Amino acid sequence: MDYSEVSGTERVNLKTNGMTCVACSLAIEKAVRKLDGVSEVNANFSNNVVSVLYDPSRIGIDDLSGAIRKAGYDVLEDDPDALAEREKLNAARIKKELAVSIIFTIPLSVMAMGPMLGIDMPFSSSPKVYSVVQLVLCMPVLIAGKRFYTKGYHALAAGTPTMDTLIALGTTAAVVYGLYATFQIFAGNPHSVHSLVYDSAAVIITLVSVGKYAESRSKVKTTDAVRGLMDLAPLTANVMRDGKEITIPADEICAEDIVVIRPGERIPADGRIIEGSSSVDESMLTGESMPVSRRSGDAVYGGTMNINGGLKMVAEKIGKDTVLFQIVRMIQDAQGTKAPVARIADRVAAVFVPAVMIIAAVSCVIWLLSGRSVEFSVLVLISVLVISCPCALGLATPLAITVGTGKAAEYGILFKNASALERSGKITSVVLDKTGTITEGKPKVTDIVSEIEERELMAVAAAAEMNSEHPLGRAIVSYAEGNRISILPSSDFISEPGGGVRCTVNGKHTAVGNADFIGSEPNDPEHVFKMSSEGKTVVFVSIDGEYAGLIAISDSIRDSTVSGISSLIKMGIKPIMVTGDAEGTARSIAAVAGIEDVRAKALPEDKLRIIKELQVSGENVAMVGDGINDAPALTQSDLGMAIGSGTDIAIGAADVILMNDDVRSIPAAMDIGKATLGNVKQNLFLAFCYNAVCIPIAAGVPYVLGMEMIPEMPMLAAAAMSLSSISVVANALRLRGFRPKSI
Ligand code: ADP
Ligand code: MG
Repeated sequence: MDYSEVSGTERVNLKTNGMTCVACSLAIEKAVRKLDGVSEVNANFSNNVVSVLYDPSRIGIDDLSGAIRKAGYDVLEDDPDALAEREKLNAARIKKELAVSIIFTIPLSVMAMGPMLGIDMPFSSSPKVYSVVQLVLCMPVLIAGKRFYTKGYHALAAGTPTMDTLIALGTTAAVVYGLYATFQIFAGNPHSVHSLVYDSAAVIITLVSVGKYAESRSKVKTTDAVRGLMDLAPLTANVMRDGKEITIPADEICAEDIVVIRPGERIPADGRIIEGSSSVDESMLTGESMPVSRRSGDAVYGGTMNINGGLKMVAEKIGKDTVLFQIVRMIQDAQGTKAPVARIADRVAAVFVPAVMIIAAVSCVIWLLSGRSVEFSVLVLISVLVISCPCALGLATPLAITVGTGKAAEYGILFKNASALERSGKITSVVLDKTGTITEGKPKVTDIVSEIEERELMAVAAAAEMNSEHPLGRAIVSYAEGNRISILPSSDFISEPGGGVRCTVNGKHTAVGNADFIGSEPNDPEHVFKMSSEGKTVVFVSIDGEYAGLIAISDSIRDSTVSGISSLIKMGIKPIMVTGDAEGTARSIAAVAGIEDVRAKALPEDKLRIIKELQVSGENVAMVGDGINDAPALTQSDLGMAIGSGTDIAIGAADVILMNDDVRSIPAAMDIGKATLGNVKQNLFLAFCYNAVCIPIAAGVPYVLGMEMIPEMPMLAAAAMSLSSISVVANALRLRGFRPKSI
């Protein structure tokens, strides 16, 4: 299930600390992209992950971390627990800073506004005391917000100004202006008391901190969700060592260990049951709430719950190789990559911050030149800087994508990356494989029509299929095993996806597969016709080029198929079935499933071609499959979806994994994709609109139209800015309540 390796490149997700906005992520991307051997880099500030596609033969992870550190950000080790812990500490710190800011900002604002509202302040008779008290109240707020300054000015010095830069510049301007006014008062000019704007700086810091706090809370929630998954892995396990059962920490289990699991215990690793049977709750992996029964020979997964039976299993995959860990990794990856729509926001932000600084400076100068007071012009400067903080813009996409992938995971739908989530909202037709996708992929042998002795036919066929991963092959092997037919040794095994298998058994060339593959005609076409029309797959056996018999195999349609397909049709998405199976079998299965468009006898390259043709005709095509023969089509399609119980190759080639093997997950994934994409667009619209309206207001357009300047303008700007962030956050969180119609 390791999808992250493309030849010569590897993906690594580096957790960082200190990214606060789009401009930060752009700065990191710039620094890393410069490096030799890096082909792709995505920095996502909403979860502090930098995802890099690099060539390990040319550059090491240390070099990547080094570049990020040099750009002024921390790189942290990759451990979900530590990460969650750090997010919590971060949230706690922000909360404390926010509390300090609020405690001092309230009396400061009351003092500053009191005289305007006609309330008599104890110090207002003495401008000197009045101004000094305000300065003293403002100091703790500035200290609580010191991060804005260190980060903001650091970024400015590095030539990549961020939203922190805007806040730092805006509030510094206010404080400097306030100090100047205080100086004037002490120099004997009591009228300067009206120019005291310390309160603006304090209110700005406080309001921006409110937004930061909301954001940190949502980060804690998502890392908590990931850690919740990690917590499913039990801490200890009982293993057999030297014939005795001992309890060891779960991370000390080795592959091949025999693990004893009692009822009510969680399974500590991925492996295979060798003794006992039980109901196992796999809902954490599949979203399916009904426990499934598992017995000797079945695979079980770490983190799932053994409900009522005693089990012994052989551990096969442990720690980072388990499915559970892969899921955690995938969720982190999905959050670490960027959806194409996010790039719009990035591109805008890259020019946005410098543009705002220029607009602010230019409007200030214009007002000064047009004869307005210094106070007025400085207030305009501060307002523009503060109102344009692009935090809402930066939050718009990552937050919706994070909520959307989480939502999908709840239904057992795992998106490997953010762009897949976005693409899933735009699908117009879905190509589905038959065996293992529309059907359960647990076929059973139903009829045998043999030219030779029946048991001999099955012994030969099973020998040929021993090495096959195909569901049909497994059906033949398990039939032989079930009927105590001893399976003969074989050699020279060759599998031809979409056709069948070939090998040498008893020194004879044996082939098992479909009619074209075998190349010899069956003696009894009537039989074949009847079985196919019942939806059975007919597999032929030839020995030394001679037709030897046929085996009919029936595979029941998944319970979820009919309703899944009808949901797709209702959504206006066209289902198409492709299969390597014969026409008759394909038609009869398609009729039950409710699919009209059927393409039978499709080899892997035909599946690929069908996808390409659909794409050329303007369709956005999703491909759903489970087998090796589906892998090329999965890769070619706009959205490859693999059935969770399918082959590793299909899972590796797909963008989405349907953990619960449920056909209804297909429309559900598209529903969630659409909802997420819609949400991102709403968020971007909210953020853009807000800036389009507010910047001109702050720059002084209303005064041109004859309205009065209010000294509280910078504060209103800060309030408006926070409001826009909060509305974007609230809108993204709305997605949490989304329910796909099909499930
Ligand atoms: P689908 O596209 O429906 O998943 P495949 O492409 O995997 O089906 O297989 C197409 C056909 O090729 C099967 O219906 C069967 O006739 C034949 N076939 C493929 N693999 C095998 C095998 N291992 N043993 C026997 N027949 C096979
Ligand atoms: Mg298949």
